[in-house]
Amino acid sequence: MKAATPDRRNVLASMAALWAGTLWHTPGRAAAEGDARWPDASAVPGGVALLPLGPAANRPMAWSDDARLLVVGSPAGWTALVGIPLSAVPGPARIAVEGADGVRRVVSHQIAPKTYAQQRLKVAPRTVELSPDDLARHERERAHQQALMARFSDPLPTDLRMQAPVSGTRSSSFGLRRVFNGEARQPHSGMDIAAGTGTVVRSPLAGEVVDTGDYFFNGQTVWIDHGGGVFSMMCHLSRIDVRVGDRLAQGQSLAAVGATGRVTGPHLHWGVVLNRVSVDPALFIHA
Ligand code: ZN
Repeated sequence: MKAATPDRRNVLASMAALWAGTLWHTPGRAAAEGDARWPDASAVPGGVALLPLGPAANRPMAWSDDARLLVVGSPAGWTALVGIPLSAVPGPARIAVEGADGVRRVVSHQIAPKTYAQQRLKVAPRTVELSPDDLARHERERAHQQALMARFSDPLPTDLRMQAPVSGTRSSSFGLRRVFNGEARQPHSGMDIAAGTGTVVRSPLAGEVVDTGDYFFNGQTVWIDHGGGVFSMMCHLSRIDVRVGDRLAQGQSLAAVGATGRVTGPHLHWGVVLNRVSVDPALFIHA
């Protein structure tokens, strides 16, 4: 972690923002609380906590474990958005916050329990047990994904209101605990949207394409970096129409729904990542 250096231009810009009336428009409340631009607060495993950090001339930096957090708001009041892993243990948790003056503090918060549905399946063993080659491939692909998620790029998003990437029935299966032949597997880390092969997939939010590929579980996949450690992942595509480096506007088409990877039928799997954590995409769609 690097200490933030106070930047005189930022200080002046912040003071100008105050004079322009920023304080008057947000009287006495944390910037992100109840602000429709940000995800719904849901301090549970798989959810997003919105932690008020108070006023400061410059945007503070914050971390959960070693992952940098997106801090939004204005000098009148900053708020840290904290993606909480599905594997988090309910109870007290903490983030580290560092002001522009380099002073560190800890902000505590509480993770509430949430029980997700469980699905028990009995299947032929060969369909869930990976061959050594497939396992090695999956490990490589997982490391590649971890590296993608570690990006924290500018500009920071000023609005995280997302639109569903395809129209269709949205499952509420985020967090579903899957037990195959009595063995717990990874819980479902995204939203499935039912749609036929070839249905156009659109970018939920403006961003840059940072990865395309054909992966063992996820099939043909596109990763979009929305800035500030926020990503969308689109999986099981039949066709990819974008390349790494393309900049997408919100709603721009990028691919087509398919059934590639380990799936039983065509649908879109949409994952949203915040501070390297998969969170429930439904929290970003308010309509
Ligand atoms: Zn899925």
